[in-house]
Amino acid sequence: MAVTVAVSSSQVMEMKNIYCCKEHVEYGLEEVINESEVPPKLEEVKEQLPTVTCEYCGQLAEYIVSN
Ligand SMILES: [Zn+2]
Repeated sequence: MAVTVAVSSSQVMEMKNIYCCKEHVEYGLEEVINESEVPPKLEEVKEQLPTVTCEYCGQLAEYIVSN
């Protein structure tokens, strides 16, 4: 009986950055956890960055959640 071996493609570490405001930091954290199942990194948006907005409400983003 032939056995089909599923060859899993090498795990691709997709970098994900979610910009969010104070109010939606938890949304971003949850999204990263759900998708990558690793503890997310939380960084403050540096002043040098161009203006970025929250992905959830469009306000000025204050944090970057990444994996
Ligand atoms: Zn927001």
